Amino acid sequence: MKNTKLFLMLIALFGVLILSACGSNNSNNAATGNDAATTTEETTGETSSVAEGKLIGISMPTKSSQRWIDDGNNMVKYFEEAGFQTDLQYAEDDIPNQLSQIENMITKGVDVLVIAAIDGTTLSDVLQQAADQGILVIAYDRLIRDSANVDYYSTFDNFQVGVIQGSYIVNALGLEDGNGPFNIELFGGSPDDNNAYFFYDGAMSVLQPYIDNGQLVVQSGQEGMDVVSTLRWDGATAQARMDNLLSAYYTDKKVDAVLSPYDGLSIGIISSLKGVGYGTADLPMPVVTGQDAEVPSIKSIIAGEQTETVFKDTRELARITVQMVDAALKGEEVPINDTETYENGVKIVPSYLLVPVDVDATNWKEVLVDSGYYTADQFEQ
Ligand code: BGC
Repeated sequence: MKNTKLFLMLIALFGVLILSACGSNNSNNAATGNDAATTTEETTGETSSVAEGKLIGISMPTKSSQRWIDDGNNMVKYFEEAGFQTDLQYAEDDIPNQLSQIENMITKGVDVLVIAAIDGTTLSDVLQQAADQGILVIAYDRLIRDSANVDYYSTFDNFQVGVIQGSYIVNALGLEDGNGPFNIELFGGSPDDNNAYFFYDGAMSVLQPYIDNGQLVVQSGQEGMDVVSTLRWDGATAQARMDNLLSAYYTDKKVDAVLSPYDGLSIGIISSLKGVGYGTADLPMPVVTGQDAEVPSIKSIIAGEQTETVFKDTRELARITVQMVDAALKGEEVPINDTETYENGVKIVPSYLLVPVDVDATNWKEVLVDSGYYTADQFEQ
């Protein structure tokens, strides 16, 4: 009897300790005004009951882009603050490498896999192994295709990313006022990344009417993801394609806009443009879009070269992912806000879509520095 009482008292004490530990964790999760983040912040305090002893395998595509480094670091931070253990691996854009890293995670006994796929169609076999072990699978940022064994998808509104880029070009050139014709060239992302089609389709939903009515002219005639895509999102590939476009179609014409879906491509495209003299009073830089608000691109925007980028706050994505995992493991309702868009070839994957933000020279400081995402000294030239 005495022992039972002591045991109950110890359990109660343990509970209080856990609750207060979670309370202090919460204060670290500075929210940035997004609803999802606020909700996540509210619920991370409850996670320890399920997090104890749970291992999260986090498989990221590459360290060659800062955004994925931030994604990985943020996830480790928020999962660990919630009491989970993590195993973070980067596959350096090598598909077999990513497969074997995920297999190793399964062998290690992870409870959850959070995967940003290099090629969204290559994971069916390894995800069958995961399903056989009862592992929860979250597709992170990029949809995993051709597998029933994807439980949830956390991402941004990828179509909207393209709409933002396309709309920026429309506004910058004054197309709604009837200005033009202007010359534009189109770049797409990696054809093995489902997102690339959403970005392109979103942008074209805005640009196509102006191509159809002649206010925008694609001098190369190269339209459609089958001809404008850029394998592995490689900046050097984009630069080489821009070199070819400039020498084949623009020796006696100028480019007024370039649709670029990602900062790493934009930097390559801008190098190519500078190489033939763009960026002077006589030959100003065209409007060049981008995505991810990476530091080199923000510096380029400050220098008046790249025009625009789309910021996707990886802190928010990490938080919503932790919240999804936490709820799923507890058997509670998982936060999702889209059950229609992301058909992966086998099923519609229930998704949470965060809101992307348009960034240019007028608001980069407010969006990126004032929110604490970057520090001002990262942009001192
Ligand atoms: C991501 C983008 C990123 C691109 C290249 C896409 O899947 O959604 O944010 O720019 O991959 O890394």
